[in-house]
Amino acid sequence: MSKRIIVQKYGGTSVADVDRIKNVAKRVVKTKKAGNDVVVVVSALGDTTDELIGLALQVTNNPPERELDMLVSTGEQVSCALLAMAIHELGESAISFTGAQVGIITDNSFTKARIIDINARRIVDELKKKRIVIVAGFQGVNLNQDITTLGRGGSNLTAVALAKVLKAYSCEMNTDVEGVFTADPRIVRDARKIDRISYEEMFELASLGAQVLQPRSIEFAMKFGVPIHVRSSFSERTGTIISREVRAMEDIVVSGVALTKNEAKVTICDVPDRPGIAAKIFREIAKQDINVDMIVQNVSRTGATDMSFTVPENDLNKTIKVAKDISAKIRAGGVIFDKDIAKVSIVGIGMRSHSGVAAKMFEALAEKGINIEMISTSEIKISCVVGKKYGEDAVRAIHAKFGLGKKRNS
Ligand code: ADP
Ligand code: ASP
Ligand code: MG
Repeated sequence: MSKRIIVQKYGGTSVADVDRIKNVAKRVVKTKKAGNDVVVVVSALGDTTDELIGLALQVTNNPPERELDMLVSTGEQVSCALLAMAIHELGESAISFTGAQVGIITDNSFTKARIIDINARRIVDELKKKRIVIVAGFQGVNLNQDITTLGRGGSNLTAVALAKVLKAYSCEMNTDVEGVFTADPRIVRDARKIDRISYEEMFELASLGAQVLQPRSIEFAMKFGVPIHVRSSFSERTGTIISREVRAMEDIVVSGVALTKNEAKVTICDVPDRPGIAAKIFREIAKQDINVDMIVQNVSRTGATDMSFTVPENDLNKTIKVAKDISAKIRAGGVIFDKDIAKVSIVGIGMRSHSGVAAKMFEALAEKGINIEMISTSEIKISCVVGKKYGEDAVRAIHAKFGLGKKRNS
C-alpha cells in the first residue's frame, strides 16, 4: 500500500451521465498515478434518488421505509459499477462495492440510519492489491442484513466515515461548485468561495439550508477531526477546507448566508399562560417524531398568548392534527398555519465577540421592505422567518449588507 489514502466523493451532478462518469474516472486515475491509494464514494446518477422516490410514491402514498431503502440504494449501485468499468477502460484496476460488502453496519432506522461500525478489512485488502476501491455512497446494512440508507446527502457521510476508519490523508467532496460559498451561487451572483471554514460554521450553514454538504457528515467529521476539502469535479482548483476553528476565523463576523424554504409555521392562538403548558404542547408533538425548529411565545398581558413554531413542511399535516387536539384539550383559541414562509440565516463564529450583527441583518431586510415574522438567535447564528416570496431577495440583501461578495470581513 502507498503511504497516503485519499477518499474522494463524487456527487450526483458529477456522475450525471456517461461523459461525466468518464471524466470522474480520469480524475481518479490521475490521483492514483500520483502515488496515492484511492477510495471513491459515489452518489447516484443525477436525480436518480428523487426519481426512485417518485416511483415509490406512484405506487403508494406511504411506502414502507424498509422497501424505500431497498429501492433508493440501487441508484448508487449503478454509479459505482459504471465508474469501476470506466476506470478499467483507462487501464487501471478498480473494484466496486455496496455498503454491505464493505461492512458499513448501521442501526435499524431506515431512511436515516446511523453508522455503528465499519469493518474496512475488505477495502484495505483491495488497496493492497493496488486496486482503486469504489464504494456505493449513502447505504449500509443493519444487523439483520437489511439494506439501510443514511439520509439524503448521505454519500457525504459514507465518505467521512471511510476517511476516518482508513485514517485517510484527505477527504475530498467533489461537487458541481468550486467549494463552499458565502451564499448559494444560484441565488447570489457575486457569492464568494470561502477558503477555510470551521466545522461549527459549516454544520450550521448546512443545517440552515446550504445543501452542499449533509449536516450529519460534518457532525461526524467534527467529532473525529476528519478534515474535509470541498471542491469542483470539473476543475483542479483548491476549494474550501473545513477544519477545526483557527484563530483568524474569529475575525470574520459573518461567514455565510443560508436559506430554507421547506418549513411551515404553526400558531396555537390564545394559549393559557400557565406552568406546564409548553411542556404539554411540545411533548405531544415530539411523540409524533416531528422536529420543531423555531419557537416564539410572547408575554401574556391578558392571561393568554399565541405560541408559534416552525416544522418541516412535510410534517405540517401531522402537526396541525396534533396541534388542534392539544388546542382543544388546553382550551386554547385554535390553530392557524402558514406554508408560505422562508427562513434566512447568517452564520459566523465572529458573532460571539461582535455586537450589532442582528441589527445590521434586520436593517438589510428593512431597507428592502421585507417584514420579519420570527427571529431566533444562538451563539453563532441568527435566523429570520420572512414570506416565502421574499426569501431569495432577503439572502441577496443580507449578503450585500455584510459585504460578503467583496473582500472578506464585514
Ligand atoms: P452533489 O450532487 O455534489 O452532492 P448538491 O447538489 O447536493 O451536490 O450540492 C451542491 C449545490 O449546493 C450547489 O450546486 C449549490 O447550488 C448548492 N449550495 C447551496 N448553498 C451553497 C453554499 N453556501 N456554497 C456552495 N454551494 C451551495
Ligand atoms: N443519492 C443520495 C441523495 O440524493 C445520496 C447522496 O447523493 O449523497 O440524497
Ligand atoms: Mg449532495
